Amino acid sequence: MDAKIIDGKAIAAQIREEVRRDVELLKMRGKNVTLAVVLVGDDPASAVYVRNKKRACETTGITSLSYELPADTTEDKLLALIGKLNRREDVDGILVQMPLPPQIDEHHVICAIDPVKDVDGFHPTNVGLLATGKPGLVSCTPAGVMELLKRTGVELSGKEAVVIGRSNIVGKPMAQLLLRENATVTIAHSRTADLASVVRRADVVVAAVGRPRMITPDYIKEGAVVIDVGINRIAETGKLCGDVDFDAVLPHCRAITPVPGGVGPMTIAMLMRNCYEAASQRRK
Ligand code: NAD
Repeated sequence: MDAKIIDGKAIAAQIREEVRRDVELLKMRGKNVTLAVVLVGDDPASAVYVRNKKRACETTGITSLSYELPADTTEDKLLALIGKLNRREDVDGILVQMPLPPQIDEHHVICAIDPVKDVDGFHPTNVGLLATGKPGLVSCTPAGVMELLKRTGVELSGKEAVVIGRSNIVGKPMAQLLLRENATVTIAHSRTADLASVVRRADVVVAAVGRPRMITPDYIKEGAVVIDVGINRIAETGKLCGDVDFDAVLPHCRAITPVPGGVGPMTIAMLMRNCYEAASQRRK
C-alpha cells in the first residue's frame, strides 16, 4: 500500500491565500483586520513563534501590533494592557504568547482577553462554545488538523478516532472537533493502560504527546490515517521530529503527516483565519 504523505505546507499556503482574499474583501468594505501580539520576556523559542506570526500577518494583509514587555512584568501590568486592547475598537484579535514568566498566572491572562478577540481560542467561553457545539473561536492547532483531514478527504463519521494527549490547547479541543464530525472518540493519555492496543483501534490517530517517535507500527492499525502534532527537537542532531516514528509507520498507514511540514504550518494559517473570523464577527 502506498501511503499518502499529507502536505501541510501546501494546504496551509492555500488557507493563507483564502484568508488574504477574505481580508482584502473586508478592507474594501472599510474594515481593516488587526492582531495585537504580546510577548513577555526573552524566551528565544517564543520570539521565533511571534516573528513567524507577524510575518504571516504581513502576507495575509492583517495589521499586526507588537507589544514586547520585559521578563519582570507584573501580572497587573499585563492585565492592564489586555484591558486596553479589549477596549480598542481597531483591535480584532489579541494573542499573548505562552509560556509566561512564573510571576504571571496564565489562566488569569487567558480569562482577561475578551472572548470575541480570543484568536487562540483558549478562553473558557470559547472552550464552552466548542463543547456545546456552538460557533466560536477554536484553538488553532486542532482546527488545523481538522482542515488537513477535510482537505485530504478523510471520512470521519462513524470512524474510530484516538487522540493521544489531553492538553487544553491540543488534545481536548481535538477530541471535541472529531466528535462534532461524528467520529467515535477516545482520548488516551499518560495514565492510559495498554496504550498500543487502544491506539490500534483507531481509523484516525492524532498524536499530541511531545515524545519523539513514540508511536511505532505496533500502535497502528493497517490503513489508519496518522496525524502527528508533536514537535520534538533531537538533542544530538538539532533536527525536528514528531511523536510518530514516521519511516517505520509510513508503510502501514493510508495517510500520514510529516514533521516538519505537516501540522506545524497549519497552526499559523488557522490563527490568520481566526483573526479574519474575529474581525468579520465584530463588524456584524
Ligand atoms: P502537553 O505536554 O500539554 O500534553 C501532552 C499530553 O501527552 C498530556 O496530556 C499527557 O497526558 C500525554 N502524555 C504524556 N506522556 C504520555 C505517554 N507516555 N503516553 C500517552 N500519553 C502521554 O503538550 P501539548 O501542548 O498538548 O503538545 C503536545 C505536542 O504537540 C508537543 O510536542 C508540542 O510541541 C506539540 N505542539 C505542536 C503544535 C503545532 O503547531 N504543530 C502546537 C502545539 C503543540
